[in-house]
Amino acid sequence: TIVLGIETSCDETGVGLVRDGVLLGQALASSMEEHVRFGGVVPEIAARAHVHAIVPTIRAALDDAGLTLDDVGAIAVTTGPGLATALHVGVAAAKAIAAATGLPLYGVHHLAGHAAADTLDHGPLPERSVGLIVSGGHTSLLHVRDLTRTPIEHLSDTLDDAAGEAFDKVARLLGLPYPGGPVIDRVAATGDPTAVRFPRPLTGRNDSRLGFSFSGLKTAVARYVERTPDLDVADTAASFQEAVADVLTRKALLACQDQRVDTLVIVGGVAANSRVRSLAQERCDTAGIELRVPRMSLCTDNGAMIAAIGDLLVRDGAKPSSLDVTVHPTIELQTAQLL
Ligand code: ATP
Ligand code: MG
Ligand code: FE
Repeated sequence: TIVLGIETSCDETGVGLVRDGVLLGQALASSMEEHVRFGGVVPEIAARAHVHAIVPTIRAALDDAGLTLDDVGAIAVTTGPGLATALHVGVAAAKAIAAATGLPLYGVHHLAGHAAADTLDHGPLPERSVGLIVSGGHTSLLHVRDLTRTPIEHLSDTLDDAAGEAFDKVARLLGLPYPGGPVIDRVAATGDPTAVRFPRPLTGRNDSRLGFSFSGLKTAVARYVERTPDLDVADTAASFQEAVADVLTRKALLACQDQRVDTLVIVGGVAANSRVRSLAQERCDTAGIELRVPRMSLCTDNGAMIAAIGDLLVRDGAKPSSLDVTVHPTIELQTAQLL
């Protein structure tokens, strides 16, 4: 069965096609540039851009795969979490196709899609693994079994900002454009990560072992920027990035230890960060843990990951969602499928 996946939870219109764990084609349109002058995603602008892009992006993905809609056997769509108005566009398109063709429809959780993205690069997940989901809206450690049948166990979350959000806010403090993650990554490459010793939140002896917090770190950067007249942006960016990478990877390895699993999967937009990737690799090598991180384009929002989780559900024999599915702007990740 070929699964068509549709993602419109934020500012990316993504469409992907997957069959049996293999990515056949994909297309992506982004309204990111339209949000730059506002310093963050404006929901109404994102939604309007999805309306504009959805049909051409579905066509482009089919073209990329050399397929037509007649080849498709199931539709998967992100129903949450995300921006309500943005989610509605993808869900409406998916329902329209399902209603017109009679194809089964699967409403899926965006974060389950992020986790499934890695299977497109590295094959099926092992029986048990620890997942670190780090994105614009989430920073969570998960105990992952099969992604589709067993509920996903949350080991920890962030108490305040998500890691990606911290990147975006710190970039703004440094006078760098939105979205901050990729820009900080680029600027940090020329800086000294040991220049400023920023705090490593929640790593004290009496702190939550697996919990995250990034708002204090952001404030520490703000204070440093205020009191430093000849600010070296590259050094500051590199030092901030080092603090985030240190905390994320340290806690992810603790979670692997606690759960006695030997596979760590890092997914979500921040998994595209070069220092997060390299430090995770170093520490996993030392600890004898297998690290899985998908290629960068599968880390940030895309349609292939939604097709990937849809494909896993189809192959597991999951019952399709009803054509009444609606959007769930805020919903915890427990199961991949949202009925
Ligand atoms: P969520 O998945 O939680 O709903 P989202 O969909 O907005 O949020 P993603 O597209 O998965 O998030 O990730 C976007 C976030 O990732 C942004 O905060 C962005 O700054 C960050 N990001 C992207 N590339 C990098 C990078 N190279 N380094 C650090 N952060 C990055
Ligand atoms: Mg995005
Ligand atoms: Fe995302």
